Amino acid sequence: MSDTDNPSPLDFRGRGVNFIEDVAVNPLFAGPETTATVPQLRIPDLETPADAAYQIVHDEAMLDGNARQNLATFVTTWMDDQSQRIYLQAAPKNMIDKDEYPQTAAIETRCWTMLADLWQAPDPTSSIGTSTVGSSEAAMLGGLALKRRWQERRRAEGASTERPNLVMSSAVQVCWEKFCNYFEVEPRYVPISEDHRMLDGHDLDRWVDENTIGVVAILGVTYTGVYEPVREIAAALDAIAAAGGPDVPIHVDAASGGMIAPFCQSEIVWDFRLPRVASINTSGHKYGLVYPGIGWVVWRDRADLPESLIFRVSYLGGDMPTFALNFSRPGAQVLLQYYLFLRLGREGFRKVQQASLDVAGFLADGIADIGPFELWNHPTDIPVFAWRLRADHPGTWDLHHLSERLRLRGWLVPAYPMPDDLADLTVQRIVVRNGFSRDLAGALLGDIRAQVRYLDSISTPLPRAGHGEFTH
Ligand SMILES: *Cc1c(COP(=O)(O)O)cnc(C)c1O
Repeated sequence: MSDTDNPSPLDFRGRGVNFIEDVAVNPLFAGPETTATVPQLRIPDLETPADAAYQIVHDEAMLDGNARQNLATFVTTWMDDQSQRIYLQAAPKNMIDKDEYPQTAAIETRCWTMLADLWQAPDPTSSIGTSTVGSSEAAMLGGLALKRRWQERRRAEGASTERPNLVMSSAVQVCWEKFCNYFEVEPRYVPISEDHRMLDGHDLDRWVDENTIGVVAILGVTYTGVYEPVREIAAALDAIAAAGGPDVPIHVDAASGGMIAPFCQSEIVWDFRLPRVASINTSGHKYGLVYPGIGWVVWRDRADLPESLIFRVSYLGGDMPTFALNFSRPGAQVLLQYYLFLRLGREGFRKVQQASLDVAGFLADGIADIGPFELWNHPTDIPVFAWRLRADHPGTWDLHHLSERLRLRGWLVPAYPMPDDLADLTVQRIVVRNGFSRDLAGALLGDIRAQVRYLDSISTPLPRAGHGEFTH
């Protein structure tokens, strides 16, 4: 969809349907007391029978497409029957009512303590953490803790607390841009290039100074799925501190990798084993395998989370320490996360994630075999990979055309430009998740081959295709 089709980015009313028209009510439900249509943008004057209202909502949601064929998203699209039951049973519980639902609150604490342990905190019982609505909220909290620690240290030194900055790759997820914008921190984006495809610690001394609140390292870059080498980044910061420069902590954005690396690549040292890593976030609703929305953030030690950020609210009879942006939010996802920790154990998680890695590897090999493509990366980190067109491709079609053609078969496989300094490079990306079987992958490969044959059969250059949106 081009920009002109969509006058305001916040306005989705015009998408797909003519929003001026009323919604037609299925004639099966039209009775003497029902009108044949209901308005779209105004609350109807009268009631609609429950069956008819249900059918309208159900049918409209059906037009969203099939979530399981969405290879753009990282977020869970399949859970087992037991999870569905827990979800329904827990639906009325509000996570913030810790006094009313003390067991859900205790389970939340168990979950982040388990994560502190999984991420090898020296003493998980002296770590601190919280659940959030997702990694975005978790990143805001991690960033706020870095900023406040820096401010408190600078004040104690009698130094200025103006102009804090945060150093990260230009390929960070948009939540870090938001953090910097909303909380008034200067973002310092280290550009990626063909030589330095991610933040790898090179020339870091040119980017950090005494106003740097922290460095963000990404375990599973959203654009390509590759891990940034947290150990090398930490070593570069160690060298800067040892030379009398600033002593800068790291926050690891492990939105996806935090639930893959500990199970499938335990030899990679990226977590609390590195003393410089102060805090880590992950998305419970990505490779934590829970439906949206849940995220987690854990600090190595209580001292890494300034006390001045914690609110002690006396609410409905309880003393409740909280550090969160939201107040009310669903409690069900916390219970689902705990269910999965129990149900799968470490070995089960390893098997599930390895199965996704295997399917991703199978798809990547298959795609590399199709003439026009060159892999940007093989899915050796998280089960995500990207590819580009070969330089000698004749140019009658591009990856946006392929993306459009695959949509005809229901597959969502986005094509998008890379971030600075590689913005001229367009890649296409696949995210393999639990539930995307080898069987489905074979069907997708067959469709990619067929669509490439079709596109190759057209000898004149195709008009520019609608540019897909990048799904983070
Ligand atoms: C998905 C993602 C986020 C945002 O996480 P949400 O859970 O969607 O809020 C942040 N960082 C990275 C690296 C991600 O992949």
